[in-house]
Amino acid sequence: MTGDSRGDRLAALATEAELDCLFVGDLVRPGDSGPDAIANVRWLTGFTGSSGFAIVGEGRRDFFTDFRYTERARSEVTGDFDRETLEGRLVAELAKRFSGRVGYDEDATSVASLKKLEESMPEGASLVPATGLVEKLRRRKDPQEIEAIAEASRLADEVYEFLAERGLSGKTEREVAQSAEQRMRELGSGPSFDAIVASGPNGALPHAEPGERVIGDGELVVIDMGARVDGYCSDGTRTWATGEISEDARETYELVRRSQAESLAAIRAGVSGAEADKVSRDPIADAGQGDLYGHGLGHGVGLEVHEAPRLGKTSEDVLSEGDVVTVEPGIYVPERYGVRIEDLVVVETSGVRNLSSTPKDLRITG
Ligand code: ZN
Ligand code: ZN
Repeated sequence: MTGDSRGDRLAALATEAELDCLFVGDLVRPGDSGPDAIANVRWLTGFTGSSGFAIVGEGRRDFFTDFRYTERARSEVTGDFDRETLEGRLVAELAKRFSGRVGYDEDATSVASLKKLEESMPEGASLVPATGLVEKLRRRKDPQEIEAIAEASRLADEVYEFLAERGLSGKTEREVAQSAEQRMRELGSGPSFDAIVASGPNGALPHAEPGERVIGDGELVVIDMGARVDGYCSDGTRTWATGEISEDARETYELVRRSQAESLAAIRAGVSGAEADKVSRDPIADAGQGDLYGHGLGHGVGLEVHEAPRLGKTSEDVLSEGDVVTVEPGIYVPERYGVRIEDLVVVETSGVRNLSSTPKDLRITG
């Protein structure tokens, strides 16, 4: 079997890794997988349910589900896969279909499932750790995937506008987060993750959960949110001011903005995740605030909000055409405020295509 369907490309990678076949599927909560855990199977086969598994090898494209999803699999799973509905104990039944050197994903296999695989595999089959092969292929988004992500990003931009028009001050963080998610649903989508609304000193906690704090006047507010379209996520952040803010808060905002602008200008295919991160970090370090930028520059986005590649100090990834990544430097001043600006971009040969269009001049929202 040669060709360039997703199954074909994965089979080629498996052969390259000296595997007879590769098992793809969630064996941490088999049969009860959430959107992130099912992402590899979804990408490979088109299946969107919570119980899907695949075995791919040279000449082999097998898809498995349980009785709840037989019909859905018939309509969703792409033509090159043979479909089978398993009866009985899922993991044991899957293991019986293993043969030769079988690659499996250690990150997606619980110790209990591994034991069951070992007990139920036929003689002659062996397990070989092979993590990240599907993820590697998922990095390069095709035009339909990019369109879904762009649409999710457009929806989030609409929600930003909606929030800005209504103002933030006087509302609790939780109210703002809820109205953002509500608006996303009204627009026919839904959140790709729980929205972060972090005001004043809470903004200094990069992953603050929106709480009962009432947003005051003259504060910085970090709003990090995304939508989901056809399974594909967006992710973006804006930091706004509710009225006049202190001189140093404004300077910090402009510094993050410059760091982000320089990163966006530097990113293109061939640049490493570590190099891109350094471009974002240098102006912040030069201003003596390097210690206040405690996370990496960005991450890949697709069926999962966080996927390969990674843009950070220790990243070994090199960006390539079709990667969709975030660019999100931040400065967090403990007990006072935080600033983060995050765009979502497609990596191209000569630069980036920015999917985020919400303005970045410091916005005073009231
Ligand atoms: Zn984000
Ligand atoms: Zn992000």
